Amino acid sequence: MESILDEQLNRLQRDCIDYYLVHAVDLKAINRLLKKDLIKFLNKARSEGKIKHVGFSYHGPKEEFELLVDGYDWDVVMVQYNYFDENVQASVDGIEYAASKGMGVFIMEPLKGGIRAGKMPSDAEEIFINANPGKSNARWAMEWVLNNRTVTCVLSGMNSIGQLDENLDVASKITPMSMSFEDLETVERVKRVMRNSLKINCSTCGYCMPCPRGVNIPECMKIYNEKYLFGHKGFLNPALFDYYQYVGGIMGNSGNAGKCNGCGKCLRKCPQKLDIISELNKVKKEFELPGMKIILAFIQKIGFPLYRQMVKLLNR
Ligand code: SF4
Ligand code: SF4
Repeated sequence: MESILDEQLNRLQRDCIDYYLVHAVDLKAINRLLKKDLIKFLNKARSEGKIKHVGFSYHGPKEEFELLVDGYDWDVVMVQYNYFDENVQASVDGIEYAASKGMGVFIMEPLKGGIRAGKMPSDAEEIFINANPGKSNARWAMEWVLNNRTVTCVLSGMNSIGQLDENLDVASKITPMSMSFEDLETVERVKRVMRNSLKINCSTCGYCMPCPRGVNIPECMKIYNEKYLFGHKGFLNPALFDYYQYVGGIMGNSGNAGKCNGCGKCLRKCPQKLDIISELNKVKKEFELPGMKIILAFIQKIGFPLYRQMVKLLNR
């Protein structure tokens, strides 16, 4: 870790990094890193002035989030948050908890990739257009995130100058708690319509968790629903990538539907009375291609190391 940090400082031509994040950790990943002296590394880098603020980014289940927040003297956390999935991963409760501890809250995926023009269900998009024809779907989503008083900073991927201009404009105009009641109500109506279009009627509340087999039930349901909601098509679609990334184990968070053994412990906890076992079976059939374990092992053991070697060679 120390040699990687030194290389990063060298490449950035800096003596110090303002915000340094331990990326994509959950309980399992952090335990692995603790055994490799993560805390000693972070404390040393801080005391030597190489890092000013330390944080972690998170895609794990919400019941593990507070444990991680309490586990170290973090300055910031980076989490996924947007109006469509405020209940998954760290969740709105999680970001409030982190903020209550004085941590900065950085938001990733404020637009969720799918909340852009042309990708939302048309009846949901119509609600936005009727409320304000001149305002884009992306702008509604950004305003909603920035309206939350616990949010410190929002990271949004942009691929045009127009998107950059729009984001700068929103960020300069929206202050916490400044959205009108009518606008908040409009977003709520859009959420309701989108929720009604879901293939599996899961609200991602997480009451069914934890699963003794480690299945991340809400995340599995969410990714399956988004595939249909946002019309992801083709073999290598974004939903498949999300599945392998967030529950398939690529980032260390293994909670895929195929781990379910049908014990039934989650069933009585679901307020929607979902037949979770058969819904997970649908998810498994959708995403868990024959030979999934081999593909994952290949990506983790050969693909990533090979990629890192290629990057090193290209940078020489
Ligand atoms: S039925 Fe499946 S998902 Fe539900 S608790 Fe048992 S193993 Fe977990
Ligand atoms: S399966 Fe049921 S309990 Fe679990 S997250 Fe979905 S709605 Fe909530």
